[in-house]
Amino acid sequence: MTGETLSELLRRRVREEGPMDVGSFMTLALAHPEHGYYMTRDPLGVNGDFTTAPEISQMFGELLGAWAADVWAKLGSPARFTLLECGPGRGTLMADALRATACVPAFLNAVSLHLLEISPPLRHSQKKILGAYNPTWHETLDTLPDGAPLIVLANEFFDALPVRQLVRRGQAWQERVITTSAEQDFVFAEQPAPDHLPPLVRFAAKDADIAEISPARIACARRLGTLLQSATGAALIIDYGYREAASGETLQALHRHAPVHALEKIGEADLTAHVDFSALSQAAQSVGASISGPVGQGDFLLRLGLRERAQALLRAADSNQAATIRASFDRLTHPSRMGQLFQVMAFHCGLNAPPEGFI
Ligand code: SAH
Repeated sequence: MTGETLSELLRRRVREEGPMDVGSFMTLALAHPEHGYYMTRDPLGVNGDFTTAPEISQMFGELLGAWAADVWAKLGSPARFTLLECGPGRGTLMADALRATACVPAFLNAVSLHLLEISPPLRHSQKKILGAYNPTWHETLDTLPDGAPLIVLANEFFDALPVRQLVRRGQAWQERVITTSAEQDFVFAEQPAPDHLPPLVRFAAKDADIAEISPARIACARRLGTLLQSATGAALIIDYGYREAASGETLQALHRHAPVHALEKIGEADLTAHVDFSALSQAAQSVGASISGPVGQGDFLLRLGLRERAQALLRAADSNQAATIRASFDRLTHPSRMGQLFQVMAFHCGLNAPPEGFI
């Protein structure tokens, strides 16, 4: 309904259809076609709400480009392949990756570039920076071309896909939902969980435990695994996350680089939840993909040659640039910064050796 804000729309939905699960809330707040957070803005950078690894340093995308070129070689250097990025943001990662592979012209000649992106403003930025590679945009994985080998990069994509939250009450699970109070404020409430959700919980729960589960992420991992299984290739997933499921909630809203309550600033704050890598790996394995990782982002980038790349850049840098290179190296790798909080995992099929960076 035009003129209706996202909060008004949510109030009306609760009035007409009853309380809304957290996953539907995330989808509405992030991806509502007219008012969704990603549909209306570029959320990245100092003037936005959050910053990501490719925006911190060109080295990140460059190393991922080298990783992709190595995967391509391990696939037997196919004459044509699909290079897909899921949630490419401003296109920075892919631009750095493709620039870094200029020394492998056969790789660049073989690329057919595809971008999975729902955000019109971000598609616009991607077009400016990646237009020369003639990308094809997709709203879903279902429209990708079949057949050609596939290499996928996904940095901070899975954490934007919706989670649902279950709360253990005695021997049963309740689902956390969003409703309105007598004063029409948004509040969390609980209602019995639908039968298909508790089987997705991957830890032994006790009373009051909270489980975050994500049918959307599982479906996406399974779909990627299926595509790789039929066409060969690899998918690299990098995200804020954990290796094994455990009780706890990680849903968070960020507005101008500061946390806010998830039910405030609806449609104006980024909403994410940490990624359960064990759930993704199980989903991809169940359709026949091999798994490497997860490993911490710091170890992964160092194994791909981050230190050497930083040293090469430092040789040509003035003192300001040198300080920036050192600071971004630290931010990307230090265990208390992104080095351990971010985990890296690959799904792969048909490579003649495992992908780089995991051992
Ligand atoms: N990978 C980028 C941006 C991360 S932000 C970087 O590292 O800088 C998340 C990205 O995923 C944005 O581009 C956002 O528009 C996109 N996105 C979020 N939900 C999506 C969905 N359901 N389908 C496709 N893209 C989505």
